[in-house]
Amino acid sequence: MNEGSKIRAGATRGTTGTRRARRRAIGIALVYALIGALWVPSSDWALRQWVDDPELLALLQTWKGWFFTAISSLVLFLVLMRMFRKDALRELASIRQQNDLRALSRFQDGVIDNASIWITVIDAEARITVWNKAAEQISGYAREDVLGRTDIWTLLYPDAVYRNSIADKVRAILEQGEEVAGFQTIIRCRDGQQRTMAWNSRRFVSEGGEVGSIAIGQDVTEREQMQEELEWIAAHDPLTGLYNRRHFERLARARHADCARDGQSFALLWIDIDNFKSVNDRFGHRVGDSVLREIGGLTADVARGVGLATRYGGDELVLALPDKTLDAAMAIAENLRKRVETASFLSAHAKASGPTLSIGVAVGDAAQHTLDALLVAADHAMYRAKAAGRNRVVGESGSGSNTGLD
Ligand code: GH3
Ligand code: MG
Repeated sequence: MNEGSKIRAGATRGTTGTRRARRRAIGIALVYALIGALWVPSSDWALRQWVDDPELLALLQTWKGWFFTAISSLVLFLVLMRMFRKDALRELASIRQQNDLRALSRFQDGVIDNASIWITVIDAEARITVWNKAAEQISGYAREDVLGRTDIWTLLYPDAVYRNSIADKVRAILEQGEEVAGFQTIIRCRDGQQRTMAWNSRRFVSEGGEVGSIAIGQDVTEREQMQEELEWIAAHDPLTGLYNRRHFERLARARHADCARDGQSFALLWIDIDNFKSVNDRFGHRVGDSVLREIGGLTADVARGVGLATRYGGDELVLALPDKTLDAAMAIAENLRKRVETASFLSAHAKASGPTLSIGVAVGDAAQHTLDALLVAADHAMYRAKAAGRNRVVGESGSGSNTGLD
């Protein structure tokens, strides 16, 4: 049963009770009148049968009147006594109930105020009527600053475009029902900080329309950040920040499939750092790490907007270039090789010039060459670059004569 029908049911019960009380009172009064009407003539008649003396008859009739009055008074006393006792008990129960309700209301206020989640109540005119301690702590706005205000949304979402997009989404959800559950927004706190909130909200509607709404918010900023961090960790190599091999393969397979469907080519660059072991041996592992990080950064730079880069393992990086011809892929590889050759990664550490790259390039029609076949071909090409003296780019094309891909 909803609130509206409960109120209606209560009002109906009240009216029916009053009507029944009136009927009972009329009934009792009629019974009393009937008893009186029967008693007076019948007792007179009986007295007249037994007593002949008019004086005695008059005296007895007077006594009869007194007797009737005494009995009526006794009955009235008993009835009223019962009624008044009932009233007194009811009043006592009502006082107790009011005290209980007050205590419950204080308890509820205490619970709302001390809850670790943000609780806001908004009335039918969109005025804030409840703003608990958690709301104060998270938002930075004190209760006195916001109670009675109607611009809560502008306060929390100062950006009009974002605010309107949220309003549209909430409106769409409320068209389906009266509740919003787990709805996430980013609020701007008083100090300008942004926090991610997950909201559960409910509208209260009566016969006359909306009477208000309650919003319960949980600050999920840290949880979301941790989630993002975990997702990043699961998909990236911690040293270079490039995709890890597993995530790269997932993405590259999807892009390769798109190229195969669209009849496009797919290029792969297999990159290996030359003589990287000697960097470690001469300058230590930590310097080796920073060189790897720098080369990873340059590779990411080159890949930006055109492909996907991964640290495939050790000092080997792979770059996937969807929809690129051999010439385009060779140019990208050559650009990367040159940038690494001319960079002096080690200058800060040992005033030495940085290491170089050997890059194998494989390009083929995606529909004809699987990603794995292209990876093998690019790896082979890289070995040929090493064999040819390092610091160079060697290409293999699935559409050319020197394919290595057939
Ligand atoms: P080549 O020119 O033939 O590639 O010679 P190389 O010395 O680079 O030899 P190779 O590629 O076979 O060896 C890779 C080296 O990379 C071995 C290892 O010491 C180093 N290495 C692999 N992973 C890391 C890492 O995470 N940090 C550091 N500092 N070194 C690494
Ligand atoms: Mg190497």
